[in-house]
Amino acid sequence: MSQADSSMKLTGEYLKPMPIKNPNIKSITMLPLVLIGGCILLTRAAYSLSPNEKPIICIDPGHPSETSAGASDNGLVERHINWLVALQLRSLLTKQGVKCVMTKSNEMEFVTNRRRAEIANKAHALLFIRLHCDAAGGNGFTLYYPSHSGRKYGVTGPPPAVCHESEKAAHLLDGVLKVKLQGYLHANPVRTDDSTYVGSHQGGVLTGSIFARVPTVLVEMCDLTSHHDDKFIATNAGRERVATALDQAIERYLEFQMLHARNARSKGI
Ligand SMILES: [Zn+2]
Repeated sequence: MSQADSSMKLTGEYLKPMPIKNPNIKSITMLPLVLIGGCILLTRAAYSLSPNEKPIICIDPGHPSETSAGASDNGLVERHINWLVALQLRSLLTKQGVKCVMTKSNEMEFVTNRRRAEIANKAHALLFIRLHCDAAGGNGFTLYYPSHSGRKYGVTGPPPAVCHESEKAAHLLDGVLKVKLQGYLHANPVRTDDSTYVGSHQGGVLTGSIFARVPTVLVEMCDLTSHHDDKFIATNAGRERVATALDQAIERYLEFQMLHARNARSKGI
């Protein structure tokens, strides 16, 4: 199934309204099948890193934004939980030598979803990880990614290459989270933006995804309407467990990307 393609650039209609320097997509190539968390992933596009380049992750603690101030249920405020987990995640990733860029400088800062994506783009993040808690009558964690482009404020996005990378990232992260959170939070299947409330009202793509030019994954870490999830995420130990699982999942993702970059370099692509 392996086949090498010519280089793919994020150009054309997708970037015209918002010209942002391309992420370091240098080539499309096929990697061997990689077994991660019980899932076989097949990868094609590479966000390559030079040997001395520090990987950058953009952490997006959800809300407040133009969408809402965030959910609340059973005495818990989503915005606050998102913020606390984001800080813990930043601390863990930083200790591993990962550069973290946050989309907010304090918990109450209002940042539009477009702006959040633009911060991730500007940082040339290898991943734009968006932290939320649901309140929809379900339970457990769910990961979402954009499966196709949408259009908002005259801009079309994300480009197909970003959709592809986002899908790959979502499944890879999910594979690790399933293992690390087993017995603590129920694992829901990975879903696309179409399944979200906002996405379903604007052509199946979240605003943050439309403007993303780097891989983007939104994590609903739990459901605040579930008493089980509530009790878990209300404790520092619970939030720490989620942050640690996310840290390990992101580190696995970075290892995977660097392996891909090394393979591409050794082939001279
Ligand atoms: Zn939310």
